[in-house]
Amino acid sequence: MTTISASASASKLATFRNFGVCAHIDAGKTTVTERVLYYTGKSYKIGEVHEGTATMDHLEDEQQRGITIQSAATTCPWTKDGVEYTMNLIDTPGHVDFTMEVERSMRVLDGAVVVFDGKEGVEAQSETVWRQADRYGVPRICFVNKMDKLGADFAFSFDTIHERLGAPAIAVQMPIGAGDEFEGVIDLLTMKAFYFSKEDKGMTVTEADIPDNLREEADQRRHDLIEKVAELDDSLTEKFLMEEEITVDEIKRVLRKATIEQKAHPVFCGSALQNIGVQRLLDGVVDYLPNPTEVPEVQGTDPKDAEQKLTRPHDKDAPLSLLVFKIVNDQHGDLTYCRIYSGVLEKGTRVLNSNNGKREIVSRIFEMHSKDRIARETAEAGEIVAVVGLKQSMTGETLCSPDDPIVLDRMEFPEPVISMS
Ligand code: GDP
Repeated sequence: MTTISASASASKLATFRNFGVCAHIDAGKTTVTERVLYYTGKSYKIGEVHEGTATMDHLEDEQQRGITIQSAATTCPWTKDGVEYTMNLIDTPGHVDFTMEVERSMRVLDGAVVVFDGKEGVEAQSETVWRQADRYGVPRICFVNKMDKLGADFAFSFDTIHERLGAPAIAVQMPIGAGDEFEGVIDLLTMKAFYFSKEDKGMTVTEADIPDNLREEADQRRHDLIEKVAELDDSLTEKFLMEEEITVDEIKRVLRKATIEQKAHPVFCGSALQNIGVQRLLDGVVDYLPNPTEVPEVQGTDPKDAEQKLTRPHDKDAPLSLLVFKIVNDQHGDLTYCRIYSGVLEKGTRVLNSNNGKREIVSRIFEMHSKDRIARETAEAGEIVAVVGLKQSMTGETLCSPDDPIVLDRMEFPEPVISMS
């Protein structure tokens, strides 16, 4: 076991993404998640911080369903443009029976990837998931999966996101072929085609020019993309009207901001089963979903006076506050998964459970990986960790500094949303 002492700075926090994968049952959430663990496991090994092939096993053991994330949150590194990002993938149960669980995990997500079936588009349960994410103000990107399936239709699926969810979806990719002929994706920002090798589970990605037969459609879709993005920003609107060039960086900047404000939802496509597109989707998580400092300050109340509203900045120098979001009984005892909103959590410290007034000792702190855990001395605002030693804290409760108590807004569990269909 490795022990690291973390002293993450604000710039380090900018490389964090706390996100979940949500979907209608059967849309491919498990398969997408397995691929995320597989590809990030690969980059993790390249970083030589870790031994073993844990994440790969997920793909090899594919027949054994249900092994996706045994932990409530998994930390997995992803490198993009030479920068290593810490991706905390938070498990969000997809089945409608677990609506409460979905609500609980939504509370700690900063963003989500919503997976759709490329043939069916939006389905009844995708609406439920979408409304839950709306309620918690979770920024979202979309992944139209199963583009390899017979009858898969990107245009249809994309339209259902607009029509059934009424959501401002913006396609940033389009597929190359569909069904048996699905081969890769076109990036509508850079106008490049990406093909994924069949031999090595899509690890080798080849960049190429857009095939001639898709040129016209790609041009049209890019025009739509730019028009929609330009509408989100005054200076881009002007450029668009003046027919001036709008750069890829400008598109990304405006689309990122709009996604975080939930005014836009970038749409990606692929086939998790055929290993096509998931790496680009991970890049999309980095490009468009917020880091912990980009979401609104967490709200709460004074434990002695519920009328007294308090907030905590996403800052390690602020008083400690964290929320328990899942307790898992593990072979080593109870692991309590926490999202730290402010301050620094230190191993061995005494914290206050401001919901029940009890003091608790945090005896150990772990960063959870796919099948391994890394012991930490400290963890800070923005991070998701599992701690050992808590005896009297339950899901939804706040732990904080006894000197600066706060009760983070309790999760309300409204009635499950009834689907419109
Ligand atoms: P979940 O219920 O959303 O977790 O969905 P799963 O990942 O378990 O997938 C449901 C079914 O769809 C399984 O039989 C998968 O093999 C299949 N599936 C998942 N992704 C794809 C895909 O990209 N293409 C095709 N053709 N099937 C897929």
